[in-house]
Amino acid sequence: MIITKDLCKVFRTEEVETSALHDVNLHIERGEFAAIMGPSGCGKSTLLNIIGLLDNPSNGNYIFNNTDVSKKSEKQRTHFRKGNIGFIFQSFNLIDELTVFENVELPLIYMGLTTSKRKAKVNEVLERMNISHRAKHYPQQLSGGQQQRVAIARAVVTSPKLILADEPTGNLDSSNGTEVMELLKELNQSGTTVVMVTHSVRDSEYADRVIHLFDGKVVSENKHKQIKRELIKEKL
Ligand code: ATP
Ligand code: MG
Repeated sequence: MIITKDLCKVFRTEEVETSALHDVNLHIERGEFAAIMGPSGCGKSTLLNIIGLLDNPSNGNYIFNNTDVSKKSEKQRTHFRKGNIGFIFQSFNLIDELTVFENVELPLIYMGLTTSKRKAKVNEVLERMNISHRAKHYPQQLSGGQQQRVAIARAVVTSPKLILADEPTGNLDSSNGTEVMELLKELNQSGTTVVMVTHSVRDSEYADRVIHLFDGKVVSENKHKQIKRELIKEKL
C-alpha cells in the first residue's frame, strides 16, 4: 500500500534550509498497524504528511496503492486522498463552530453524498465511537477524550483504507488514551491500515511494527508480531 524509495524532504525558507527526511525507504503493507517513533524534530510529522498526501517529497519516490504520487499537484493529491485516507491529530482539529454531527458530516459533504445517506452514515459512526449522545453538542462542550472520539469518527466516516494518526493520545490522560488506542486497534482488526506517530512506548505496543526515526533517517524497524512469533517458536 505504501512504498517509499529514497524519500527526502528539504524545507527551504528565506535563509534556512532544513533537511527533514533523508533517504527513507519503507514498505507498509495493507492491513498493517505501524508506529513511527523518534525524538522531537526527527521528521515524524513530515513523513506522515507525505504518506497522507498532504505534502510532496523533495526527492525520491512515494508509491501509494501502486501509483507513483511523488510529483502530483495539490489538486491531484486531494483527489487521491478523498475517501481513501483519514487523519487524526493530537489537537483533534475539530471545527468549534460546528456541532459534533456537523463535524463528522463534513467529509461526506465533500464527497457529495445525499442528506439522508449522510445522516445514516454519521449516526452509525457516532454510535460506533460511543458518542452519539453528544451529537448536538459543540467541541468545546466535550472532554478531550470525547473530542478525540469525534475526530476519529470524522476520520473513519468515509470508510478509508488508511488511517494516519499524529500523536493521537498526546493530549489525553491514560484512560482516554487507552480508549483511543483500543478504537484504533479495532479499526485495524476490521481491515484498516493504521500508521501512527507516537512518543508513547505503551501506545507503540499496539502496533505490528515500530519504525524508529532519528535525524530524518530510519534507524530501525522492529516487528512486534515477528518477535512474539519467534519467542513462541523458541518455547515450543
Ligand atoms: P515533534 O515530535 O516535535 O512533533 P517531528 O518528528 O514531527 O517532531 P517534524 O515536524 O517532522 O518533526 O519536523 C522535522 C524538521 O523539519 C524540524 O527540524 C522542523 O523544524 C522542520 N520543519 C517541519 N515543517 C517545516 C516547515 N513547514 N518549514 C520549515 N521547516 C519545517
Ligand atoms: Mg510532529
